[in-house]
Amino acid sequence: MAAAPATEPRARRAHAPRPWRNWTRTEQVTPVRVERPASGDEVVAAIARARADGLPVKAIGSGHSFTGIAVAPGVQLDLTDLAGITRIDATTGLVTLAAGTKLHAASAMLHEHGLAFENLGDIDVQSISGALSTGTHGTGRAFGGLATQLRSVTLATADGRLLPVSPTENAELWPAARLGLGALGVLVDLTVQTVPTFVLAADEHPEPLDAVLDDWPTRSAQADHVEFYWFPHTRLALTRSNTRLPADASRQPVGRVKRWVDDDLLGNGLYEVLCRIGSIAPGTIPAFNRLASGVAFNRQVADYSHRVFASERKVRFREMEYSVPLDAVAPILRELDRVIEQNSWRISFPIEVRATAADDVWLSTAHGRESSYIAVHRYHREDAHDYFTAAEAILRAHDGRPHWGKLHTRAAADLRPAYPRFDDFLAVRDRLDPDRVFTNDYLDRVLGS
Ligand SMILES: Cc1cc2nc3c(=O)[nH]c(=O)nc-3n(C[C@H](O)[C@H](O)[C@H](O)COP(=O)(O)OP(=O)(O)OC[C@H]3O[C@@H](n4cnc5c(N)ncnc54)[C@H](O)[C@@H]3O)c2cc1C
Repeated sequence: MAAAPATEPRARRAHAPRPWRNWTRTEQVTPVRVERPASGDEVVAAIARARADGLPVKAIGSGHSFTGIAVAPGVQLDLTDLAGITRIDATTGLVTLAAGTKLHAASAMLHEHGLAFENLGDIDVQSISGALSTGTHGTGRAFGGLATQLRSVTLATADGRLLPVSPTENAELWPAARLGLGALGVLVDLTVQTVPTFVLAADEHPEPLDAVLDDWPTRSAQADHVEFYWFPHTRLALTRSNTRLPADASRQPVGRVKRWVDDDLLGNGLYEVLCRIGSIAPGTIPAFNRLASGVAFNRQVADYSHRVFASERKVRFREMEYSVPLDAVAPILRELDRVIEQNSWRISFPIEVRATAADDVWLSTAHGRESSYIAVHRYHREDAHDYFTAAEAILRAHDGRPHWGKLHTRAAADLRPAYPRFDDFLAVRDRLDPDRVFTNDYLDRVLGS
């Protein structure tokens, strides 16, 4: 396909390339140039210029992927100026967001209109496009990942079109475009199905690990959004259950002092200090984990959903997360426990377990099966290699599928059997980006070059 001529925008927003790093500091690159388009036409023009110069082009979000998926060595598109709500229908709840909108900003704007995202992950600093492009998810057996909230997108393509894609327009592309890994084009806007504002009542407390493990398939369906954290070297699971309530339900936000103690001091400040001590003196980690399990998690909160779903993560870490069949959680965590203790590893960061509904998105980690998610973490100053290698072997053996934005070593040949529609996705990629304008090393690895 030939690159269509694109009109030069009146004021071309570009700035000198600076080194770019992802949040966790595993990836860095200095692009040949950075462009800052503020409209769909400017995105199309930037793609055309990149092609004319023989450079690959890639949009970035907030750089919160642990993998190299957002690395843009050619032209990096910074979508900071392509943000905000462009269309809103408070009756249907259909809202169109410009592609660079950050989730926290979207939540705040939606709230003003009496609307909210149906579900969110642990943080909300990502861009809506970045989060959707990697299959970001939260927890809740009745809820899918973010891609299931999507109703249509506009995609700037390699051949210079602004292509609407939805179940009714260019419908054959829809199951791929809902979660496209940034491999199909540049998203310009996205329409999501929102829901009326609601309150979430959160109950967080420690429970015996074995009881939670044995009970997980049942327990994960007992509240609307259930998850738990297990600190290795302890026998406690820190459970969190969020129940959805109407918008006018009484709220019990965390007080400012308690929020500071829980989130800033214990959750981030003291936690950073203890992780640092643990990285120098690993023998302190089991005692620290027992302290963290007992102290940091004992609270009831009720507030508007976006304030409860997401929290701040100031302590930097590395993460690998796999989706696995719902009932595989207990055997996997017991194997992880055994491997950690056999190797005398001292792991300060908890393992997080969540669950979501099945969906029909081609590259979704929950494609065709109700899924549990198991995430292993390591403090960023510690070497994650051996622990993550062992964890990945266990997770793979249980039919695991890796999160596209989190560390893993899988490549196209061994991802194909995990995704029944893998080749269909590749066919859409071949059609939309035959010259691999949007590729990078990570995409070459997981999709093939
Ligand atoms: C502390 C932390 C907590 C996290 N919590 C969760 C969680 O609870 N659940 C979960 O599932 N994940 C979680 N993640 C992972 C995170 O949600 C994903 O990696 C997400 O992609 C990051 O969004 P981003 O805006 O930073 O995107 P980036 O990492 O910048 O980019 C990700 C991909 O999106 C593409 N992209 C961005 N914009 C566009 C566009 N306009 N068009 C086409 N492609 C585009 C990029 O090219 C790249 O391929 C977490 C990550 C961190 C660091």
